[in-house]
Amino acid sequence: MKITQLEPFILHAPVTRRQIADSTHQLTHWGAPGVIIRTDAGVSGYGYTGTHAYLPGDRLITDCIAHAYGPLLIDQNPLEIQHLWRRLYHYPPLQWIGRGGVTQLALSAIDVALWDIKAKVAGLPLWQLLGGSAAKTIEGYNTDGGWLNWSLDQLVDDCRALVETHGYRGVKIKVGSPDPYDDLQRIEAVRQAIGPRIKLMIDANGRWDLTTALTIGRRFADYDIRWFEEPIWYDDLDGHAALAQKLATPLALGEQLYSLDDFRNFIRAGAVHYVQPDAVRLAGITEWWQVADLALAHRLPVVSHIGDMVQVHLHLAIAHPACHMLEYIPWLNACFEEPATVIDGDFIPPQNPGAGTTLTEAALEAYDVLRRSG
Ligand SMILES: [Mg+2]
Repeated sequence: MKITQLEPFILHAPVTRRQIADSTHQLTHWGAPGVIIRTDAGVSGYGYTGTHAYLPGDRLITDCIAHAYGPLLIDQNPLEIQHLWRRLYHYPPLQWIGRGGVTQLALSAIDVALWDIKAKVAGLPLWQLLGGSAAKTIEGYNTDGGWLNWSLDQLVDDCRALVETHGYRGVKIKVGSPDPYDDLQRIEAVRQAIGPRIKLMIDANGRWDLTTALTIGRRFADYDIRWFEEPIWYDDLDGHAALAQKLATPLALGEQLYSLDDFRNFIRAGAVHYVQPDAVRLAGITEWWQVADLALAHRLPVVSHIGDMVQVHLHLAIAHPACHMLEYIPWLNACFEEPATVIDGDFIPPQNPGAGTTLTEAALEAYDVLRRSG
């Protein structure tokens, strides 16, 4: 079996409502630059990463897929993923300009597409290829009701509806307002609305400095916060270690860590309690699995960040023993042959062979800006 062709795409799909914001980002669309890898056996693999739909940046990723990694993949056997991953990850001219950022996001899309091929050839959903069972429950928690640009009333109404109408047992809300006491007010209102038994997570997206995070973070214990996500600048290992020691609320992070080594450093420093690797921001499923095993060895739970809008991570969560809960944001739902689904707060195991990444032709027609812009 050989790889014959790589077809890049760039999806820009609108977010659920017109615009969302956290403390650091504002966006109207979610970006999914990626690739369809064709083979001489007629099986095609779909892989993509997740972005904020900024076309010049997304083009860097698809150019890297097509022109930098592409020539290394043509005529190779797509089933030999570990071999190909090592070759691409350590290809000297790209390693020199990579190990994070554009080249890595490109590699993640390729790696996901290769796993999609492997599962399709096996005739199995990826979770089953990786040894998982549909008997395992993966609880969904919802972030799409907790944006920082929601008014207090909207925030409370959304979180209450997610719990009472849709059956979620966990919600995450964004913090990092200019005045942190506004955040405390929002946390208190949501906790009151959803009651004491629902998991409540908060996410500062790296906005605060150590002093603010420490001062405000001490108040979180009053509201039974399950985790405090990205409290301070992403790479500040010492700061996170200090917070982890001094706060009663556990820390979650990982969406801005780019390598197995980064995760090792944070875990070894005791700077993280909930490990949040993202297969489409690490170098694919291959490196995600390495990080999840590392977390498991330290008895830390893995609750992935979902730059893929959960399609791939649902398979990984079902298969990996460190995973029991997963985020749900529905922005790319309309794009897939089998979109990830939550019923009564739990994910439904996908049934189609593959990694859950197969796009519909209608989605490519509607959202592939690469086709439209030529
Ligand atoms: Mg986050």
